[in-house]
Amino acid sequence: MDLLGDPRTILQAIGCGPDVANIAEAPVLDVLHIYVTLDETDERLPKLLALLEEHGADGWDIRRDRFTDEELEAAPLLIMSYDINARVFGGPRMGTTYDMSDACKRCGAGARQTSAMIIDVEDLHKLEGRRAATTPYDDVLVDENLAAVLAESGATGLSFRGVFTAFEKRGHMQLPWRQLCATHTMPPMSPRSTGIVPDDLCCCGRSGFDTPTEIPTRLVYRAADFTEIRDINVTWEWFGDTHYEGDVGDALFAYPRFLVTPKVRRIFLDAGVTGFHWLPIHIVDE
Ligand SMILES: [Zn+2]
Repeated sequence: MDLLGDPRTILQAIGCGPDVANIAEAPVLDVLHIYVTLDETDERLPKLLALLEEHGADGWDIRRDRFTDEELEAAPLLIMSYDINARVFGGPRMGTTYDMSDACKRCGAGARQTSAMIIDVEDLHKLEGRRAATTPYDDVLVDENLAAVLAESGATGLSFRGVFTAFEKRGHMQLPWRQLCATHTMPPMSPRSTGIVPDDLCCCGRSGFDTPTEIPTRLVYRAADFTEIRDINVTWEWFGDTHYEGDVGDALFAYPRFLVTPKVRRIFLDAGVTGFHWLPIHIVDE
């Protein structure tokens, strides 16, 4: 939506200061991303919704469950997702290569990365002063020191790849970063999951989910799905838009969600990484 004036001032006017408003450092494609987090009983919420309505904005309602630190520590697995300010462009369109032999021919789900992660040189500055970042495909990147801590932690189910950037004339340059990869893929989720709706489901069943933001995301598994889990896992389902016509270099892939144990979250927090969201998965007896 178009706001006339500084978003900080406008939000401050309804009492939404930096404690609840997370404003991106720079616009992406001319859009400045702003996240305001309020409890559904917060008296500022109707003011914010009125402000959005006044400016003709809709579809901005994101409902999410929130958890205490104790609940996060007790969760079997947590969905780990990116910080809006720590996302660097990388993946198929940057020259990262993938083995497509076991992937869906239509949507590319199941593409198996075969090279180092290559990220856009334009986004290098976003890594400065950070210890972790992600790509738009939820690939998790960590600095080499944090990679060493993870490797020595005894955490299971992880492997690392190099991270490079490509310069137009000078070729590839390796960065002091590593991509954190999961070796284990979860079984398909339970249909009792909410906020994950088969919308334009691909024939492979792995992509084409809609994640309506007004329904809290609850990723549900059966107790039996946990027998093989590791500290780092990815979902069988792939999320997000796809565009694949046989050429990986021109592909837009959906991507699996990254699921980690509280032990991994603790390692990130101990390293001073605060930008990730952590959302517990749910277990049902079936
Ligand atoms: Zn498919």
